[in-house]
Amino acid sequence: MAAAGLSLVRAPADAPQEPLALPAPLLAVDGVSLEYRTPERVVRATHRVRFDVYGADRFVLLGASGCGKSTLLKAIAGFIAPVEGQIRLDGRAVTGPGPDRIVVFQEFDQLPPWKTVRQNVAFPLRASGTLARREADERALHYLEKVGLSKFADAYPHTLSGGMKQRVAIARALAMQPRVLLMDEPFAALDALTRRKMQEELLALWDEVRFTLVFVTHSIEEALVVGNRIGLLSPHPGRVRAEINSHAWGLDSLGGAEFQAAAQRIHRLLFEAHPPEATP
Ligand code: ADP
Ligand code: MG
Repeated sequence: MAAAGLSLVRAPADAPQEPLALPAPLLAVDGVSLEYRTPERVVRATHRVRFDVYGADRFVLLGASGCGKSTLLKAIAGFIAPVEGQIRLDGRAVTGPGPDRIVVFQEFDQLPPWKTVRQNVAFPLRASGTLARREADERALHYLEKVGLSKFADAYPHTLSGGMKQRVAIARALAMQPRVLLMDEPFAALDALTRRKMQEELLALWDEVRFTLVFVTHSIEEALVVGNRIGLLSPHPGRVRAEINSHAWGLDSLGGAEFQAAAQRIHRLLFEAHPPEATP
């Protein structure tokens, strides 16, 4: 069973497409190029990126710093418009932000400090007109329980650790019951042990709730653990180098020889100028 779970399912951008027998994707990123324009110059962040995300996928975007991962996530969230290509959610073009796509960021300051934990989770539900006060409070408590923080519902964010703040941010995002949960290196600022714990909790939560996840990371190990599929992005500007299946790997694969081999193989695919033809 060499290289189990590391089969290449789609590759390098312009390879001929096989006839698809798959259902319509929930999220389609279709030839998306993204740019930043300043008076002096244009920075191309991604070049014709394409991938599909299906319901209950844990799709990971993996690439080196600066390859356009955050920019892609912002485009999916609707904050940035593509200069080329299209992003579709449930078959409809994304033209702006919406409560069907919620982002969890890396930073611990994403929670307004003057609101309690419960108010933080309930606020978007009320502000978006999704729920009235009482229902919003109930749903907030429900999701706080899921992330193990019901005892801290009335605490203020500054009294929480970094990991706890990220749990609140995750509860707040899931409480909105988005079509897609977008996470931009959510555990990157945590210490190694807390990070491992948070990966474990995220997977347990996914087992229970089965949300659809697009998760950005620059860590090969984290990508293998968290994702069921991984899109590998080349360095700046980001292009899809390959797409691999990673459902066979989990937290209990860490440290094993096969896991190390898979990680090394991904490293080569990411950084070699002309990656070798991938074979399962
Ligand atoms: P990643 O998240 O993979 O580290 P980013 O999406 O943040 O990468 O950035 C992709 C590229 O776009 C980088 O070269 C970065 O310098 C550039 N970039 C990001 N934000 C801006 C901005 N606001 N203005 C100009 N260039 C930017
Ligand atoms: Mg980033």
